[in-house]
Amino acid sequence: MPGHKMFPMAPKLPVYMDNHATTQLDLRVLEAMLPYFTEKFGNAASRNHEFGWKAEEAVENARGQIARLINASPKEIIFTSGATESDNLALKGVAEFYRSKGNQIITQATEHKAVLDVCKRLELSGCEVAYLPVAKDGRISLDDLRRAITPKTILISIMYANNEIGVLQPVAEIGKIARQSGVLFHTDAVQAIGKISVDIERDGIDLLSISAHKLYGPKGVGALYVRRKNPRVQLAPMIDGGGHERGLRSGTLNVPGIVGLGKACEIAAKEMPVESARLAGLRDKLMDAILTRLDAVTINGSLEHRLPNNLNLSFAGVEGDALLMGINDIAVSSGSACTSATLEPSHVLSALGVPEDLAHSSIRFGLGRFNTAEDVDYVAGRVAETVKRLRELSPLYVAAKQRNRAGGSQSSASVENRR
Ligand SMILES: *Cc1c(COP(=O)(O)O)cnc(C)c1O
Repeated sequence: MPGHKMFPMAPKLPVYMDNHATTQLDLRVLEAMLPYFTEKFGNAASRNHEFGWKAEEAVENARGQIARLINASPKEIIFTSGATESDNLALKGVAEFYRSKGNQIITQATEHKAVLDVCKRLELSGCEVAYLPVAKDGRISLDDLRRAITPKTILISIMYANNEIGVLQPVAEIGKIARQSGVLFHTDAVQAIGKISVDIERDGIDLLSISAHKLYGPKGVGALYVRRKNPRVQLAPMIDGGGHERGLRSGTLNVPGIVGLGKACEIAAKEMPVESARLAGLRDKLMDAILTRLDAVTINGSLEHRLPNNLNLSFAGVEGDALLMGINDIAVSSGSACTSATLEPSHVLSALGVPEDLAHSSIRFGLGRFNTAEDVDYVAGRVAETVKRLRELSPLYVAAKQRNRAGGSQSSASVENRR
């Protein structure tokens, strides 16, 4: 492998830098969960013996740990199987419960599919959905939002931070507009939780989706925050049977998973300031190391309004497939989405106006708790070396260079983008 000769300090391979897709379970989280698989196996709904009480106590403790991270009250936390279910419950639950009030929902183009596909489903059953566009920096316009609100609007669903480009939406301003208009505000905060400060009071949030596995917790467990006063949010449940979780989500609770989510939130609350600063440092180091070695690289989305652990770059003049193959000892994601048999450009990059060829040749780097400076040096070196090699073989790149000479270079555009 060429990487080994060029980088004697090579980290353990493959390098995992896909932390927006999922994260490695923190061993402290695993340790907290283990007893609830074995001796503390009770059903949290068993009200008449010690086994049930122990499980219930653990669940209530986790509710508190999650609530503290977002400045909510424990009663406002509803456990689910993950953020996909939380998003479904928030949107479908509001649409059904508030049908007599109105049928319009406002969302935006770069949402996760767990919101966009729910909106498509709701449109089939008589809802009207306004999809706000985003600017080149990935953010919605607040004027567009104000204009989209009608007397029939019941819900605004805008994500806190995007999972591809890490761009933060102006959440507190959106919350203010929603409150002034008497409209509920849901935010998919999966990528923001544990990375940046999220506060449901400061931000005016009424419903908020969380997933454990994006936060160094286990897969298959999440939560929905549902505001209980000013205003009291009501939802139609999506799953009936047994009346667990205040009747909003029936089904025996996943006690070990819930304990894991709680512990992950407790760790995040304690370590976030230091960890996020470290990740921003690593991300900037990665960005600088790549941009100083390569020209014709563009940064997708705002750098100013961005998660500390995200970098999304397009490399002009290389094939996305060849690039990913060339760095197959590094786990990252590309700007292509596999929809059925064809390779489509990511809907997020398309919404930003990134041309199709550049979307396919883009890479999402998602840094996480277990990445090191050695990882960053290695990844920057491998990416630069691979892009250079592919460009030497590429007629596309020669064409791109000629385009740049005619109309201003992309590397200077990317430098303007930088802080
Ligand atoms: C991963 C993710 C989801 C889905 O969460 P699951 O718990 O895997 O269902 C939803 N929204 C965003 C922004 C995500 O990144």
